Amino acid sequence: SQPSHEVGVVMYSPQIDSSSEASLSLLTELRAAVAQDQLRLYLQPKIAMASGEVVGAEALVRWQHPQRGMIPPMQFIPFAEQTGFIRELTGWMIERCSMRYAELQRQGVELKFAINLSTRDLLDQHLPTKMERLFARGGVQPQALCLEITESAIMDDPARALQTLQRLHAMGLRLSIDDFGTGYSSLAYLKRLPLHELKIDRSFVMAMETDRADLKIVRSTIDLAHNLGLTVCAEGVENAQTWALLKALHCDEAQGYLMGKPMPEADFADWLLDWTA
Ligand code: C2E
Ligand code: CA
Ligand code: CA
Ligand code: CA
Repeated sequence: SQPSHEVGVVMYSPQIDSSSEASLSLLTELRAAVAQDQLRLYLQPKIAMASGEVVGAEALVRWQHPQRGMIPPMQFIPFAEQTGFIRELTGWMIERCSMRYAELQRQGVELKFAINLSTRDLLDQHLPTKMERLFARGGVQPQALCLEITESAIMDDPARALQTLQRLHAMGLRLSIDDFGTGYSSLAYLKRLPLHELKIDRSFVMAMETDRADLKIVRSTIDLAHNLGLTVCAEGVENAQTWALLKALHCDEAQGYLMGKPMPEADFADWLLDWTA
């Protein structure tokens, strides 16, 4: 079962403006969460469809709250973005991923890690430098990291995003467009970005066996990605029919509950053994 879905408390609502008292206390709690080690790294496998091999894992954050239990990201990520706290959270994620990467490597496992970036991260001109510092310390190398970025995060300030993304690309990191098709972006703009992958949003994937419009969207996204020389990953694969359909459409990679739910980072190595067995 997914502990994250058992929490009914809504931490964040758009009504919480960043000057209110509720907001101040949430920010205080978030700071404490990092200081007191309450954030958790969950990993969800990404599978190469042709070979069935695990090629990577997406890093997803959870908040193990001492009173409220496991809190899913949608209840605090938007707030963290609004307040700028997301930069600290992203920093924490990259550190954690780097440590887990090294641990898995010691066990003989070599995987790519995908990390989600938000608008604020892209506007942070120090991000590439922070990453360089991390790589200099050893652990994970840039080639092993993929950064997932939504269209809306890029379109917030396209010129600045392009600058940051070009620097990250030059360092050797892979770049992926997350939730492709759900945001507003111009293809004319996207084609200028040094991209490696498109991820098809799960809202298109989950009903593609029955919804003809969704099927067409998925098919044309796969074709578009391939025509642009990009790898394509479908998320939200929950059943074998969807898997088979995506494979027939030559989708490169897949992610979803059918293969593996996001799991605590410490469980990943065991899951991998089961998968390979
Ligand atoms: P996302 O980047 O689109 O991540 C995929 C979400 O889809 C995850 O939800 C994952 O659990 C869920 N998912 C994966 N496979 C399936 C499936 O087969 N069926 C269904 N129904 N769902 C599936 P999660 O972990 O709740 O994350 C939600 C969003 O929170 C993420 O969406 C991402 O935008 C954001 N997020 C999570 N962790 C971080 C983080 O560290 N930093 C930032 N900036 N955002 C994060
Ligand atoms: Ca993502
Ligand atoms: Ca996504
Ligand atoms: Ca999403």
